[in-house]
Amino acid sequence: MIGHEECESCEEFNLHNPDHNKENFSKDCNICGKWRAHIEKAKKAIDKYHEDAEKDDKVIYCVDLEKVIMIPRWEMFKSAIFTHRLMVYNESFVPVGKKQKIVTHLNKFYDFQDFVSTVKGTSKTTEVLTMELSNFHKWVFYLSQYKLNKMVPRPYIHNIVHIKIEQGSFNMKYESDYDGEFFDINFLSSKVTKNNRHDLVNGISALKKENIMKNLSGVMKNHL
Ligand SMILES: [Zn+2]
Ligand SMILES: [Zn+2]
Repeated sequence: MIGHEECESCEEFNLHNPDHNKENFSKDCNICGKWRAHIEKAKKAIDKYHEDAEKDDKVIYCVDLEKVIMIPRWEMFKSAIFTHRLMVYNESFVPVGKKQKIVTHLNKFYDFQDFVSTVKGTSKTTEVLTMELSNFHKWVFYLSQYKLNKMVPRPYIHNIVHIKIEQGSFNMKYESDYDGEFFDINFLSSKVTKNNRHDLVNGISALKKENIMKNLSGVMKNHL
């Protein structure tokens, strides 16, 4: 996490013991130990980031999943808070080394088009790529439990700091420290890797749509 804002590990550390802090941590304290390992990992990630920023033979993007926003967004209306709304994600691709503009002040907006204009308006150079219905796939979890159980070491998400996905391969490579040692894992069921299909489109449920229309149509009149 490059920005390191609102980080749970740091927050836990800050709150756990008034006598333990950044300058004065305890060697015997579990939370202090965990926090130091966390900071060590973050430092290495930032070093990697700067290393990438120095390279000029390749185009390297930094990807950041920003706030999850509920649409329509007007928190001042109770009807909106209590209705299951649409969840939208704003994923940014920024060339490494460039300052990233994070959308922090969002006004109220009613529909997806409003959201798009708000994001577009954050900077002149922001190009917004909106996704269409056909871009949403109904992903099925094709993990092979059998393959996973046989893996040594067993991969855990909290131990993974770097992954590599290569076109044409169904395997995933990962590093658990930034030491250049990659584990190559093959975890998909062979049924899928032999017959690769992602042709199902995923939408929202009819009930959710009906609830939004029923509860919010009064306020959204011009947007439906
Ligand atoms: Zn942290
Ligand atoms: Zn401590």
